[in-house]
Amino acid sequence: MTKYVYTFTEGDKDLKDLLGGKGANLAEMTNIGLPVPPGFTITTEACRHYLDHRTMPEGLDAEIEAHLVALEATLGRGLGQADDPLLVSVRSGAPFSMPGMMETVLNVGLNDDSVLGLATRGGDERFAWDSYRRLIQMFGRTVLDLDGALFEDVIDALKAEKGVTDDPDLDAADLRRLVARFKEIVAEQTGRPFPSDPREQMRQAIRAVFDSWNAPRAVLYRRRERIPADLGTAVTVCSMVFGNLGADSGTGVAFTRDPATGWPGVYGDYLQNAQGEDVVAGTRNTVPLAELATIDARSHAELMDIMDTLERHYRDLCDIEFTIERGRLWMLQTRVGKRTAAAAFRIAEQLVDQGMIGLDEAVQRVTGDQLAQLMFPRFDDRAVAGDDVHPLGHGMNASPGAAVGKAVFDSYTALKWSRSGERVILCRRETNPDDLEGMIAAEGILTSRGGKTSHAAVVARGMGKTCVCGAEELDIDTKNRRMSAPGGEVVEEGDVLSIDGTSGRVFLGEVPVVDSPVVRYFEGEIDPASDQADDLVRSVDRMMHYVDAARHLYVRANADTPEDAARARRMGAQGIGLCRTEHMFLGDRRRLVEHLILADTPEERRESLEALLPLQREDFDGILDAMDGLPVTVRLLDPPLHEFLPDITELSVRVAVAEARGESHENDLRVLQAVHRLHEQNPMLGLRGVRLGLVVPGLFTMQVRAIAEAAVDRIRAGGRPRPEIMIPLVGTVQELEIIREDALTVLRRVGEENGMELDLPVGTMIELPRAALTAGRIAENAAFFSFGTNDLTQTVWGFSRDDVEASFFSAYLEKGVFGVSPFESLDVDGVGRLIRIAVDEGRAARPDITLGVCGEHGGDPASVHFFHDVGLDYVSCSPFRIPVARLEAGRAAGRGPGHVH
Ligand code: PEP
Ligand code: MG
Repeated sequence: MTKYVYTFTEGDKDLKDLLGGKGANLAEMTNIGLPVPPGFTITTEACRHYLDHRTMPEGLDAEIEAHLVALEATLGRGLGQADDPLLVSVRSGAPFSMPGMMETVLNVGLNDDSVLGLATRGGDERFAWDSYRRLIQMFGRTVLDLDGALFEDVIDALKAEKGVTDDPDLDAADLRRLVARFKEIVAEQTGRPFPSDPREQMRQAIRAVFDSWNAPRAVLYRRRERIPADLGTAVTVCSMVFGNLGADSGTGVAFTRDPATGWPGVYGDYLQNAQGEDVVAGTRNTVPLAELATIDARSHAELMDIMDTLERHYRDLCDIEFTIERGRLWMLQTRVGKRTAAAAFRIAEQLVDQGMIGLDEAVQRVTGDQLAQLMFPRFDDRAVAGDDVHPLGHGMNASPGAAVGKAVFDSYTALKWSRSGERVILCRRETNPDDLEGMIAAEGILTSRGGKTSHAAVVARGMGKTCVCGAEELDIDTKNRRMSAPGGEVVEEGDVLSIDGTSGRVFLGEVPVVDSPVVRYFEGEIDPASDQADDLVRSVDRMMHYVDAARHLYVRANADTPEDAARARRMGAQGIGLCRTEHMFLGDRRRLVEHLILADTPEERRESLEALLPLQREDFDGILDAMDGLPVTVRLLDPPLHEFLPDITELSVRVAVAEARGESHENDLRVLQAVHRLHEQNPMLGLRGVRLGLVVPGLFTMQVRAIAEAAVDRIRAGGRPRPEIMIPLVGTVQELEIIREDALTVLRRVGEENGMELDLPVGTMIELPRAALTAGRIAENAAFFSFGTNDLTQTVWGFSRDDVEASFFSAYLEKGVFGVSPFESLDVDGVGRLIRIAVDEGRAARPDITLGVCGEHGGDPASVHFFHDVGLDYVSCSPFRIPVARLEAGRAAGRGPGHVH
């Protein structure tokens, strides 16, 4: 028969899936001899059965009863026993932390009789009645589904009647009256009396905790956090201990080291004569844990010992909850605690130094996201601590970074001012799709409303722009273009603001920004062995050495200038995975492209191409030089041609004005005709990529020639250029065949002209579903595949990125359709599946094919793990993300297959 109930002496910390995080860790603490109030845990398996069948699994009731009887025997008291009651808490505990999402019922076992026993044994009548009213209130809300306000209103009315404001001002008699009234409410609302049978209370509470797995807020939370919906929650039934039995009692929370900095030392808060919920409610001020040493030296010493034991045992920072009941210490919870990015690196490093863990494990204790946080520019700490800085308030740290600029209150002004070279901070109550242009123009975004999934937060993160959102204490008055802060300051349009997206703080005036030392280290400006390197730099350096040796994936950069290429190389890039060529046709060269598009005759077209050729060659020269000896994948032109032509509206106006004035406008008119001809409803799906190569004669061959000639230049200069030619947006092998033939012809010709053999790989992007599905055929004509996961995501989902991100993505995230945008983190089930198919078929057709990815997912931690699992050769990402990709590739290699998170 299946075992559904485990006493705390039976399980251990590795049984989280079965016992939930709480149950597993309570068992672990019990088994290493820490003082845990005895109890037992009902498994997630029982919950799953209950949720599937709407009945408890067979035998569960009897198993619970047997464990309860054993618990009663251990403690020598019966559940709800009239003269000396055992009381229990019934708590939820899922395999993943879902803070505050599910239910808990405390003080189970109290009724009209046992409340008297509790009063006598505890020697405190007020405490007993307060515990009883808390039970009915909590039971009413969570088990009987009653509106919590029904109870709160009664408490408020009583306080008003007595002329007091705080709960502690209610005495035992008041609380007894509350109990009577609460029981009436239960009877009125449910048609049944409050259950006085302690075992019945427990049974109902267990069911309610199971049911709370499917409470709407829990469902939403899981959807967002991508926690599977079918795990179920465990239920722990634990004998109650009380921190509210007088001055020699209390409750607290603590960390075994500082979760903000990672430095050793114990951190925590303690609240005398209180229960856990009083600490969380924040209605009374806690004292630092150190003060417990003077309040109760013995318990304090014992607690320090326990925390030391826990750290050694878990080999990590732990957080704990504890209660002292009349001078006796009890541990109520522990888990491996959350920490900041800096703390994560420091702790991992310290644990290695202490010999507690190896480097292999240390790199699993830090994440790419944490490394990225250490790399953002930041406000100078010394300046922030100084007197010159004027804090205004703070909101949520929605998108990290440090931004300084003039306050503007609408998008139009943001755009206008930024065009004239001003840096601006866009301040809005909340943003909507109309604000997009302003957001792009701004250095940072500040809103007074909305949380971390608000439009501002989502779009800002997508753009990598600093954002502080939901700064409710700042009153943003867009109509009058000003903002007022709680300290009375008024910020007018044009006043300078500094916003810190990493901490959520907002300052008046300009706070100096510094590069993070970690970036300076990656840039080669700080030698990790020198005095300039702080402990964080040393820790990062040590981990990077380890992961670079461990990883299977190469890491390349997306870079299209010599400067970016050089920077990427300093950051550890092993080549360029995507050199986009469209930026090379902007600025002054736009004119030449315009000529190319307007060319009426082959002669005119050739002239334009000939003018472009040397310019392109120079571009490639510089990049190949910066990446000498490493592969450089150059992608032939991808975007639709109209992107190189003037804006249709501006041009139409110019033509109309010229016409009205009777001025000459011949050229504008020609361009306008071309703009109309090239105008597309869905440019993303229009004439671009390989399609351009097929219909604009000479364009791709000019580019191939420029690449080949640049390679010749580099070879002559003694270099080792390794360019590769990449064709974008291929959907069928026929497209690729034609372009590839042309390319090979050009390569041969340039080789002959220069007396050398140019054997450059020609490959393709896989960024359309059809390409992935026919990858076997395509591989026959491609030396490499590079997955363009940006376009692949767009085309798999039918999303036009520019349109959807700004319009409805925040709603999708809010509703939990996805927890993170598929443009940020690869959609493994959909896009990932196509990639798997293409990898398998590509490798089958051409075993030596090189496989990489160059969409933005190449620098996203979770996606890097997927690319490792699926067996790609490299990931390519923006220079700044390279360290992140290196770290995650190393972590993925150390973890073995199957770990996507
Ligand atoms: C892609 O589609 O993933 C890609 C890298 O190309 P681009 O983003 O330039 O369309
Ligand atoms: Mg693309």
